[in-house]
Amino acid sequence: MKLPGEIRYIDFHTHSQGGGSDAVAVRNLMAGDEVPADFAANTLFSAGIHPWQLTDGNLGQMQTELLLTAAHPHVVMIGEAGFDRLRGAQGEVQYRAFLFQAHIAVEMGKPVVIHCVKGWDELRRARREVKPGRPWVIHGFRGSGSLAASLAEEGFWFSLGAEGLTAEVLESVYHEKLLLETDDSGRQIAEVYHLFESVTGYDEQRAERLVRNNFNSLLNFSL
Ligand SMILES: [Zn+2]
Repeated sequence: MKLPGEIRYIDFHTHSQGGGSDAVAVRNLMAGDEVPADFAANTLFSAGIHPWQLTDGNLGQMQTELLLTAAHPHVVMIGEAGFDRLRGAQGEVQYRAFLFQAHIAVEMGKPVVIHCVKGWDELRRARREVKPGRPWVIHGFRGSGSLAASLAEEGFWFSLGAEGLTAEVLESVYHEKLLLETDDSGRQIAEVYHLFESVTGYDEQRAERLVRNNFNSLLNFSL
């Protein structure tokens, strides 16, 4: 990807328009959303069937719509997809929808962005079943350090927003499998980086280089 100007920040997961000229943003689309005809040069997309979108009857339609959206060349990841025990369709439907997306990601050679609320057993089961070759990134993680450590041990990557940037979690995950995000918080991505720097003690340059390298290795890019 050719980028205008100097990129300092990568917003790995956002629902807003994009992060300005010094940031690359991965904007999330839900199945059925179209990639907008005009978007900033430094915007990429993820596309997935969110568990909140799912009902017990709409999986087939969502699958068709996702295939159309995911075919766009600026869609670089599948998701957010995953498990939510508090909202959305019943568990079995969520599981089927997730496996469908995990298999598409394998076929397309893309990483998966994971939304997971209390569905850790299902997520682990799916990972054992699919054995993905590309990373699965748990976005918006806000759990404990011990949960983070066990998921990191199983190979999961993490994308953290302001609420997830605790010392406990940052001591438990691999920093070379870590990304930062704004999600739907309305914050600036620079603010999330500064929080990350204050918890880790990294200086700005080190934090920016780390996240950029991680993003590049995730997508086989060179930003
Ligand atoms: Zn999101």
